Amino acid sequence: MGLLTKAESGWASLKNYLLDLLFPPRCAGCGRLGYWFCERCVSEIQTVEDRGTVPRRPNSALNGLRALGYFDGRLRKAIHALKYSGRRPVAKPLAQLLARYLENNPLPYEVIMPVPLHLKRTRERGYNQAEILAQELGNLTSKKVDVQSLIRHRLTPAQVGLSEEERLTNVRGAFQVLGEGLQGKAVLLVDDVATTGATLEACAHALRAGGASKVWGFVLAKER
Ligand SMILES: [Zn+2]
Repeated sequence: MGLLTKAESGWASLKNYLLDLLFPPRCAGCGRLGYWFCERCVSEIQTVEDRGTVPRRPNSALNGLRALGYFDGRLRKAIHALKYSGRRPVAKPLAQLLARYLENNPLPYEVIMPVPLHLKRTRERGYNQAEILAQELGNLTSKKVDVQSLIRHRLTPAQVGLSEEERLTNVRGAFQVLGEGLQGKAVLLVDDVATTGATLEACAHALRAGGASKVWGFVLAKER
């Protein structure tokens, strides 16, 4: 089970393993048996390429924010499967899309970091979907993946239904960098979805305060 992460509790790992055995792979996009996310569905995802740049506010701590595509259709289904249905292997084809995007739209980064979940949330879900994506992307790009240096030390209410300003206030100060390992490093900060980018912004502030020289936000999907 190469997809298991350190943050997973033993019970969640065992539960997910048994679920995989009991329920064979079914495509997250179209339901086809034998696939986690089939090539046909992957090919239907429209990447936004250079238009993936998400507008940011002035004084942003992010050097840029890129999205692979929009949060709808097959991509939305795949993200939901990864995030809420315990279908962790869906991360592999999604990470392949991210890697291909980076090949076509290179960014100058040295280390890949996922947006962290609070430990309580990670325990509830059994894993952090952003961390799995980051690990898979690290395998494909041979870049270092750092899942230790950035932590979410404050549990924040869900962002759904909040305005952009409320979202920013909600997550401000929720993240913290541990140690000195990020001094002068250019970071690629990975998450599944960006709505207003408030969470990525809060992470970027913490990363800059922790010594990172650059922070690029990189997500699978952005809201239209
Ligand atoms: Zn499919």
